[in-house]
Amino acid sequence: MASTTKSHDLNSHLWDTSALYRDAVQQLDEAARVMNLDLNIAERLKVPKRAMIVSVPIRLDNGKIKVFEGYRVQHNMTLGPGKGGIRFHPEVNLSEVAGLAMLMTFKCSLTGLPLGGAKGGVRVDPNQLSRQEHQALMRRYTTEINTIIGPDKDIPAPDVGTDAQHMAWMMDTFSQERGFTIPGVVTGKPIEVGGSLGRAESTGRGVIYTVQHAAKLLADRGEAGPKIDSTTTVSVHGYGKVGAVAATEVHQLGCKVLAASDYLGGVYNKNGLNIPKLNEWVARNKTVVGFPEAEPMSNADLLALKVDVLIPAAIDGVITMENVHKVQAKIIAEGANGPISTDAMKVLEDKGVFIIPDVLCNAGGVIVSYFEWVQGLQNFFWNEAMVNEKLAEVLAMAFKRVADVQTRYKCGMKTAALISGVERLNKAMLLRGLFP
Ligand code: GLU
Repeated sequence: MASTTKSHDLNSHLWDTSALYRDAVQQLDEAARVMNLDLNIAERLKVPKRAMIVSVPIRLDNGKIKVFEGYRVQHNMTLGPGKGGIRFHPEVNLSEVAGLAMLMTFKCSLTGLPLGGAKGGVRVDPNQLSRQEHQALMRRYTTEINTIIGPDKDIPAPDVGTDAQHMAWMMDTFSQERGFTIPGVVTGKPIEVGGSLGRAESTGRGVIYTVQHAAKLLADRGEAGPKIDSTTTVSVHGYGKVGAVAATEVHQLGCKVLAASDYLGGVYNKNGLNIPKLNEWVARNKTVVGFPEAEPMSNADLLALKVDVLIPAAIDGVITMENVHKVQAKIIAEGANGPISTDAMKVLEDKGVFIIPDVLCNAGGVIVSYFEWVQGLQNFFWNEAMVNEKLAEVLAMAFKRVADVQTRYKCGMKTAALISGVERLNKAMLLRGLFP
C-alpha cells in the first residue's frame, strides 16, 4: 500500500517509552537550545548508537528454568569505549537503559574521560534471588552480551542491584571464554582480582566533594547557602552503596545526618544519627529499619524533611510534580541517576534550591572506574591516597567547568552540566565527521 509519509519523517518510538529517557532527551534539547548546538549533532545524540536485547535463561534453586530479559545499550562511543553499569531491577527496560546510557555519555564527557556512554540491565528483582541464582544470571548475561563488550569496546561496572562480586563473576566468565584473564573488561571489581583501592567508596565520596564545592560556590557568589560543618543538617534517601558512604563522609565533616532510608523505610533522629553505629546495624540487618537510636520515618517524610542538604541516592524519579512542593532542602545532591524529574527540577530551581546534577554529583564512581581501567591496562596499581587525590582533582575541574558554564549561559546547573558534556563531544564529533 502506498504511504504518504516519507520514511525519514517517522520518529522512532522504540526508545522513548520511559520517563527517564524522555527526561534525558528533554534535558538535551534544553542544553542544545541554550548553547545553540548544531542541530545535526543534537539529532545524533538523541538516540543510542547500538543496543542489544538478550534472553537470559537460568536454572533457579527449585530446579525450574526462568528466562529474564537483559539489555546493553551503547549510546555514544566518539570519545572512547562505552562505559556504564549493569543494573538488576524489576523495572529495567530498554528505554530506561537507553536513557541511562545517554546520561553516561554526558557524565564521561563532562569529566574529561576518554570514554563513551553505555548501560546494561536485567529485568529482575535482585532481592528474590539466592547468591547462586545471582551468579548464574550474571554469568549467562555476560555470555549473551559477550560480543559487544571488552576492555577496548565497552566496559561494564556495578549499578543498582549489582556489586563487586557481580563484576568478579562477569570478569571470570568473559576471561574463561577467551582463555586468559582480562581484568580490563569490567571495573568496580574486588581488589583481589584487579580492582582499584577507593572504587567502592568513590561515588559516595564524590557526592560529598561536590556538596563542598556547591557550598563554597554559593558563599563565593554571596548567595545564601549552608556551610559544611557541625551546623549543617543532611538527609539521605537510599542508604546503600552510594548513600551510606556519602552519609559517612559528611558525618566525618561534622554535619548532622538527621534521617536515612532504604526501600523498606527510614529512621530519624533530630540530634543526628550515630552513623558509625547505623553502619554496624545495616551490616548486620541489611536495612536501616529498626535502628534503635532513632524514630521510624517514611521515605515520603524524609524527602520533605527540612534540612540543608538532601541526598537522593537510591533510584530515578523520586522527586516529581507529585511531591516537589514539599521539598525543603537548600542543596540537593543527586547521588542517584535521575532522581528529580525535569519538570520538578524547574520548580526547585525557581525556588532557589541549588541542585548538583547527577552527571556531576555521582561521577566519582565512573572517574575511579577509569582509574581502575588504566591501572589494569598498565598493571601498575596506585595507593588509595593517590586515587582519592586524583578523584578530587578531576571532580574539582569538572565542577568548575559546570559552574563557569552556568555563569556564562545563566542557566540551571543540570543544563550547564549537559552543555559542558556536549561541548566537548560536539567538537570531537565534528572532527571525526560522519561516515560514510
Ligand atoms: N553505575 C555508575 C554510574 O552510573 C558507575 C558506572 C561506571 O563506573 O562505569 O555512573
